[in-house]
Amino acid sequence: VALCSRGQRPVSCMLRPLEAPFRYLFGPGPSNVPPRVLAAGGRPIIGHMHSEMFGIMNDIKKGIQYAFQTSNNMTLAMSGSGHTAMECAVFNIVEPGESVLVAINGIWGERVAEIAERMGAKVHTLVKAPGGHFTNAEIEQALAKHKPVLFFLTHGESSSGLVHPVDGVGDICHKYNCLLLVDSVASLGAAPLLMDQQNIDILYTGSQKALNAPPGTAPISFSERACHKMFNRKTKPVSYLLDMTHLSNYWGNDGKPQRIYHHTGPVSGFFALRESLAILAETGLENSWKHHTEVAEYLWKGLEDLGLKLFIKDKDLRLPSVTTIAIPEGYNWKELLAYIMKHHQIEFTGGLGPSVGMVLRIGLMGYNCNKANAAMALAALEDALKQCRKSKA
Ligand code: PMP
Repeated sequence: VALCSRGQRPVSCMLRPLEAPFRYLFGPGPSNVPPRVLAAGGRPIIGHMHSEMFGIMNDIKKGIQYAFQTSNNMTLAMSGSGHTAMECAVFNIVEPGESVLVAINGIWGERVAEIAERMGAKVHTLVKAPGGHFTNAEIEQALAKHKPVLFFLTHGESSSGLVHPVDGVGDICHKYNCLLLVDSVASLGAAPLLMDQQNIDILYTGSQKALNAPPGTAPISFSERACHKMFNRKTKPVSYLLDMTHLSNYWGNDGKPQRIYHHTGPVSGFFALRESLAILAETGLENSWKHHTEVAEYLWKGLEDLGLKLFIKDKDLRLPSVTTIAIPEGYNWKELLAYIMKHHQIEFTGGLGPSVGMVLRIGLMGYNCNKANAAMALAALEDALKQCRKSKA
């Protein structure tokens, strides 16, 4: 009583219980989390420096190596979302003043260009409109011209729904003494990607898409070539938190006998991530890719049957996890999304960055990826198309 009379009263919202409704998360992420992963994240926490925790982190490392198809020792999970991995990759690999080449065909290239610019890199860009992609010849030409130390490419462009070809890009980069950084946040587990075979130097993903863990952790891996560059730099990376000399020790990757406290990792997030990687290992990567493709094809056919146009024309370039639909003429896309959320408790989304106003996006990833959910998504969209007809766009 004495405290309340002198200080602030507890705000009334804090005296109400937490409200978090059930939603069908059929957007580009986060996606619904299976009970098994939620249960893993809900286990009593242990200390982040306990030997059992190090054992769990070692398992996570193995799970990521499988998911990425890599034998890289420098494999770990970031304490943070996909953006943390983006910054970690750029901050550790690039020194101020060095040249970076970024492929921009949606928002993710834009973001990486900004991250690199902020840390003082000389940023060059290769730009296409959302939905576009780059040929290996275009990439090679730009590498020869700008001589970057790092080239960034988005594998699963979730803002446009495009899956970018990666074959041969790593070899071209290496010919020009450049490292290849690939974003697989929206594609990992849904579309084939083979880190070692495709000569990718740095690969990262997020926990909340096809892996179906809660948002907040982000697997990343560095090739030996990438390690050579980042551990022989003249300047320290701008971020202490994301400095790989510390993170490699925290993850037991630096060969030192002792792991030394750097930061407190998200213990519950790591439990959940381990469980989601276990599910992927049980399912098998190839089965997971095949399953995403089958469900996506079922969805694409249903959308075309509704008279809708898919934004990515070439089927081979469509991202199986996130489908983009050209906004149908005569409709207000925000009204369609609001109707579907209100009447069907389903989240779809509009575009992002340069694709805003161009597309609607439906994501069916991992646990959410099945024909029953695709049918539910199609029925909701069909209903919305009937109800929201003739609204002014
Ligand atoms: N890259 C891609 C391709 C993404 O789809 C996302 C998330 N939408 C990110 C990066 C960023 O991840 P996060 O939101 O977890 O920081």
